[in-house]
Amino acid sequence: MAEQLIYACKLKEGIHARPAGHIERLCNTFSADISWSNSRTGITANAKSALALVGTDTLFQDECKITLSGDDEFDACVQLADLLEKISLQEETHTEETPDVDLSLPRTLRETHPVYIRGTRISGGIAIARSVVSKSITFCQLESLAPVGYLGEKAELALFQQGIENLKNEKVTQLENACGVERDIIEAHLSIVNDITFAGQVTEYICQQHNAFSAVISAAIAFCDILNNSSSKYIKERVLDVMDITLQLLSKINSDIHLPHSRIELVESSILVADSLTPGKFMALDKTRLAGMVLSNTGKTSHTAILARSLGIPTITDLDDNAPSFDPDKLMVLDGNLGLLIPSPTNAVLRYYQSDIDAKTQKQKQMLAQVINPATTADGRRIEVAANIGSDLEAARAFSNGAEGIGLFRTELAFMDRAVPPTEDELTQQYIDVIKHANNQPVIFRTIDIGGDKPLEYLNIQPEENPFLGYRAIRIYPEFITLFKTQLSAILRASASGYARIMIPMIASVEEVVWCREVLESVKIDLRANHIKFDENIEMGVMLEVPSVLFAVPEIARHADFFSVGSNDLTQYLFAADRGNTRVEHVYDNFSPAFLRALKFAVDEVHRQGRWIGICGELAANLQLLPLLIGMGFDELSMSSAAIPTIKSEIASMKQEQCGDLLQQALALGSSAEVRQILENPNVKITTSLPIISESCILNNLDLQNRNEVIKMLTDNLWLQDRTHNPEKLAEDVWAREDSFPTAVGYGFAIPHTKSDFITNSTISIAKLQKPIQWGEQQVNIIIMLTIRKSSTDNEHMKYFSQLARKIMNEDFRNEISRSNTKNDIYKVVAQAISTAI
Ligand code: PEP
Ligand code: MG
Repeated sequence: MAEQLIYACKLKEGIHARPAGHIERLCNTFSADISWSNSRTGITANAKSALALVGTDTLFQDECKITLSGDDEFDACVQLADLLEKISLQEETHTEETPDVDLSLPRTLRETHPVYIRGTRISGGIAIARSVVSKSITFCQLESLAPVGYLGEKAELALFQQGIENLKNEKVTQLENACGVERDIIEAHLSIVNDITFAGQVTEYICQQHNAFSAVISAAIAFCDILNNSSSKYIKERVLDVMDITLQLLSKINSDIHLPHSRIELVESSILVADSLTPGKFMALDKTRLAGMVLSNTGKTSHTAILARSLGIPTITDLDDNAPSFDPDKLMVLDGNLGLLIPSPTNAVLRYYQSDIDAKTQKQKQMLAQVINPATTADGRRIEVAANIGSDLEAARAFSNGAEGIGLFRTELAFMDRAVPPTEDELTQQYIDVIKHANNQPVIFRTIDIGGDKPLEYLNIQPEENPFLGYRAIRIYPEFITLFKTQLSAILRASASGYARIMIPMIASVEEVVWCREVLESVKIDLRANHIKFDENIEMGVMLEVPSVLFAVPEIARHADFFSVGSNDLTQYLFAADRGNTRVEHVYDNFSPAFLRALKFAVDEVHRQGRWIGICGELAANLQLLPLLIGMGFDELSMSSAAIPTIKSEIASMKQEQCGDLLQQALALGSSAEVRQILENPNVKITTSLPIISESCILNNLDLQNRNEVIKMLTDNLWLQDRTHNPEKLAEDVWAREDSFPTAVGYGFAIPHTKSDFITNSTISIAKLQKPIQWGEQQVNIIIMLTIRKSSTDNEHMKYFSQLARKIMNEDFRNEISRSNTKNDIYKVVAQAISTAI
């Protein structure tokens, strides 16, 4: 006689490794033979082997007949029935556990237990390098270095004037070899050197018996006080420039005095930790050795920050208050993407980041190989992807990154931080340079967007209480008509050498557009009179930044050739939330249905008038919102050069039709939280059907040290093979299963597995390691990872899992796979096993 137990499986995921382990352990405490027979699959297994149990392919609601025979069969039967009940309950509670750690870090990074300091991102990217610590000198310290004597008024004045003259000459020479942002900054410095108030103050101090050295310091302190008192963050950040120039001037006045910190030498790849880094010092750095920067006292709009971004140097600022002081020459990790500094990385952290850098570099290479193709959705809709630039220097990078034009040239940068505006010839030359780089692709010159929070000293515009609502952009043109005409003339002259367009910022009414047209026509008349060539048909468009334009598209479209949404400003004006004020950040909401409806309305209105519409604010590079922008029907997206390869590759993977459907859903929602939710993993990507197993998902001879490294390596590889768009979330799903129970199945094998929304094609990945690693309680050197699409029918997941588990029980299979030394051999063995089994 034997005992029999009929069990209808209550586990949603079937009998996978964790419950099988529980059953195996209990059964092995009895002497009775216990066999488990799945009535659906017809497979019978010894319940004392977890692997064999998994091999029965027992799924949710499968009926199983368990036969127990031996002396203690009755006890075994009672306890097994009890256990089967309990594991069903445990299974439910397991999924509700939430670990008590910083969940904003990717799971695979959390596994390395990094000890980090949070900061604010200035420029993304990752750097692993030794620290170079630079402490800036304060005015107090400088004063203590001042010589004590006073050579008399005449001699001290001569010393000061000679110093100024030498510095001026040096700057002028530097200007000859500089271009782009670097040139802008040298010009800014030159304007401080030439500043009459500064020179006047120094002279006054000298007359009051201060020697030239001390007088310069006192004048600089007074100058900085004025800047620091400004309500504009931008102006405050110019203090660094004054400090920079002061140091340079002092070294010219008294070369005997050793000024600390005059030049930072980088002898190897380094992360520079500086409490304040002036743009001048930044420019003097050897960029080939500058891996990253950790800065304090550096605002996001400071020149140093702008330079770091334009050169793609990972940089963070505003470290948490209790940040320790840093030692020089220490290996550090700087994660500009997450805004973290890891000052003493462990080996595990270093290995994590190295592997992350390797994967991202490979992905970037793949994308760069494709950027030459025009951006088109998978179902054939063309969307122009253009670049935003701030100087001619950035044009080359934009086009090598795949820009199909310049969608926004912020021309005002060339007007800022200088004593006088650039000349028409200077501008024309700059514009021709960009147009030539564009090689007949369009370049949109946005006419100067200054005033308000971007003051130009030489225009003498009074500070205002509400600069963003005040006298800026188009609103100042009538007063400074010569400046506006000069710029228009330069753009027109440059238009003779390629494809130029003009765009006017901050348009609020049709009258402004009509006025701009009239001015443009008058400039054209002057050029014709002087026989200067230009593009007679040059297009003039408007930025859609002020909400009133939304409701004036029909009349404006009569005078404008195109529209481009300046989403940075449109968002702030729509929500009445200052774009630079972090306290109202939550109000400034690009995910809000109200904002999305406004954008959709704009696109429809503009198209109804037969015009095209682009978007050139930060939003254009937002990966989460991209399907909605495509769905809305934007004709052009313009963004920073660095974002172009990713955005082009994403566009190519999406279908216009699905994006349209998703948009309709989003527009009907009632909150931005709901919008975020549907964008979490939208179903808008093409699903090329890929085989479940392919050689590209097999990694052989890996030198990995733990389970986490294997999961990261395999999920990153799935990203490189275009089988997941979100390797971090996929890894998280794989880990969720490992958290319940390690998936080692014996004989040196592990089968990590998940059903996930983050895999586009169900895949079997394989990692064969050089040395076994710990996987839960077992040693493992062959990992077969199953990532199955959540939407897959028919419990594919457990089918493959149990099939592989059965195969692993077979010694021949194990030997064959162990003997296979190439990807191709491993592929053949596993592919054969799968094809015969399913
Ligand atoms: C915008 O407002 O979105 C825009 C592109 O212009 P800026 O950021 O220069 O104001
Ligand atoms: Mg704007």
